[in-house]
Formats: sequence, structure tokens, C-alpha cells
Amino acid sequence: MTIDDSTTHSSNNPNNDPEFLTLANDVLINVYPFWPVQMARASGVYIYDTNDREYLDFGACIATTSLGYDYPGYNETLNAQIKKQHLGLCYIATEERLSAAQTLLSHSDFDQIFFCSTGAEAVEGCLKTARKRSVEVKGPEAIEIIYVKDSFHGRTMGALSVNGQEDLRAGFEPLLPGTYQAIFNDLDSVRNVINKNTAAIIVEPVLGEGGIIAADPEFLQGLRDLCDEYNAVLIFDEVQCGMGRIGTLFAYQHYGVVPDLIALAKGLGGGFPVGAYMGRRDITAHITHGSHGSTYGGGPLACKIAQFMVEEISKPDLLQNVRDVGQYLLDEMTALAKETGAFSNVRGIGMMVAADYEKGKAKDLMHHCVQNGLIVLYCGQNSLRFLPPLIITRDHVDEAMAKLRKTLKGGK
Ligand code: PMP
Repeated sequence: MTIDDSTTHSSNNPNNDPEFLTLANDVLINVYPFWPVQMARASGVYIYDTNDREYLDFGACIATTSLGYDYPGYNETLNAQIKKQHLGLCYIATEERLSAAQTLLSHSDFDQIFFCSTGAEAVEGCLKTARKRSVEVKGPEAIEIIYVKDSFHGRTMGALSVNGQEDLRAGFEPLLPGTYQAIFNDLDSVRNVINKNTAAIIVEPVLGEGGIIAADPEFLQGLRDLCDEYNAVLIFDEVQCGMGRIGTLFAYQHYGVVPDLIALAKGLGGGFPVGAYMGRRDITAHITHGSHGSTYGGGPLACKIAQFMVEEISKPDLLQNVRDVGQYLLDEMTALAKETGAFSNVRGIGMMVAADYEKGKAKDLMHHCVQNGLIVLYCGQNSLRFLPPLIITRDHVDEAMAKLRKTLKGGK
């Protein structure tokens, strides 16, 4: 079964204001093909457009608004901190920064943390720390970094250098020297490139943009062992799969494999821009005064909300919900795939679920879902992706499946 392609998303959306989009496309640098909707407000796990049409949000701003919108205490925490102080000089350690650091570290296996604002910045911090440590411990040649095909780590030049998606690098090369690509879940491919000059291996425990593909536990353990053998730093990019998304606060805890450095963002701020990287002291100690920094990183408002997010997401009931309702979503998608024949390879872990769709048509399907009041995302080559807020219930899953079923039938 396929969607009715005679109806394009732009011609049918009642909220499509061509003039608004023309103006937006004129003044905003052309990085996104804007969706033909204008959102006005959001509440719970729903977003409303300027015609007050309701959209069930199964994208959560790409795994970011993990507690949805106006979650009890979220806005209040922001508002209270704004009244006190929103930003402080980065050189002054505030109670908010110390407290958020202690809270995050107390839930982890790490000793030190650096706050920043975005995922790419958290990845940059990890790369810089690993490289500096490697050069200081192993020598000036030891600058090599191994990454995997189909990974995504961000858009800045350093992060881009270890992105395993060729098309994203096009036009920006030469990037960082000494980066080597291996294959996800293929330890031999890593063995082929690791050597005494390897500074670090960077990997997402679950490939997000690359298609929602969970690492095999043996793969991550194998990377851990290789890093130990070659005295290299193991970096987990948990920007998308961390902060409760797969049912444990940090993704590495699900696998029981502890990396040396971990990058966080997205769900850490729940919609407010906060990123961070954490690590073991013997690694992070190589970052010294002047070798890294961030004007906004660790500001009181960012840290106050990060602390709130950690406290909420680490609650056992919430993590149980991620596992239970995530499994329900996976089961329902599997059933829908069987019923309609529209999807193959339904897969997922926690609240990261994806399924392959007809070649070249996943983006169209995504737009048609939006027309039917369901916000979903795509990923990989041709997959529909669900990254809902972690607080969704089975009823929300049923609603999403009903909207998806209707969309597949070509209904409006
Ligand atoms: N790492 C991963 C795994 C991501 O999914 C993303 C964003 N999709 C990033 C890094 C970059 O995050 P940001 O856009 O906040 O820089």
C-alpha cells in the first residue's frame, strides 16, 4: 500500500501561506526546505498551527523536547531563574553550574563535566580533549580519530570531519586530517584502521540520523577493549540517544560499557539549548586554562533547566515508561507494517523507532503525515522515524498509528 501521490503536501495544507514561506526563504539562509506549516503554540505532546489545528508531536524537535511542552515545573523553573539571573560571566562558577554538574555526574561514571550549548559543540569538546590528551600522552603523531559510516555528529568542521555521511561533507573538504572510517557493528573494520596513533574512536550507541540502528553490545564492548589495548579514548555521542531516550538515563548504561568521554545535548535542555560533555578525570585533566571555553556554556538558566531535566528523566517511572511505551510503539508499528505491507525492517530501542518505506518516498510520507496531524521525521536512506516525547502514553501511540494508517490510505 502506498500513499496517494497525486496530493502533494504543499497544495493540500490548509495552513500553507505561500507569502510567509516566500519571505522566510528570502531572508533565511537556505539550509532547510521549510515545511508548509506555521506553528503557533504547543502544549503537552501537541503542537498547534496558526489555524489552531492540532498536531501530535512524534518528533520532539529531533529528540529534544523530551518532556513535551509545559511539563509541570519546566516553564516555572525557567521563569524563576530568569527573574534571578539568566546568564553569568563564564569565568564565575555559580551555584547553578556546580549543582547541575554534581547532579549529572552523580548519575554517571564520570568525574568532570563541561557545559556548552549544542550537540556539535559537545562533540567538539570531546574531540579536542581526546586529541590533546593523545598528543600529550602518546606523542605528536597520535592524532587519528576513527568514526563509523552513517554516523552523525554535527555540522561544525570538527564534527563534520567524523560524520559518516558523505553528502554532508561535500563542499567542505579538506576537513580534519587523520580521520578514518570504519563500519558500525563491524569490529574487524575497526581493527583494520586502529593503530598506535589512534587518539580516539567516536560512536553513537544508537545511530540516530543514520537510521535508528542500535549497536550490538559486543561491538561496543569490543571498541572498549580496542581503546584499552591501543591507549585510545572511547567517545560515545549520546546527543540523540542519551538522556533517557533508550530507557536508561545514559545510553551507555543500557549497554554496561563505560566510555571515556560522553557528549550530551538535545534532551539535556528539553528544548532550551544546553549541551555538555563528561569524562574521566585522567582524560579531562588534559583540558587546561585557555584550551577550551564557551561564552554561554554553563550559564545559570541553562544549568538550572539541565538539572531539572536530569532530575525528572532519571525518575524510575519515567524510564520505565520509555521502555514500556517504546516497546508498545515498536509492536504497533510492526503490526501496522504487517497489516499494510507498507514498511519493512521495523526497528527500535526505547523511544527511537524507525521503519523503511518505499524507496525515495519516506520524505513524502512524512509530509503527508504532517497534513494528517502527525509530526514524524525521516532518517537514513529511506526511513520514517519516531522520536516522541518520553512522556507519551499508549493512547498517544494508538492515535499516531491511526493517523499513519489514514495517511497510508491516502486519506486527509
Ligand atoms: N550528534 C548527534 C548524534 C546528533 O543526532 C546531533 C543532531 N541531530 C548532533 C550531534 C548535533 O547536535 P546539534 O544540532 O545540537 O549541534
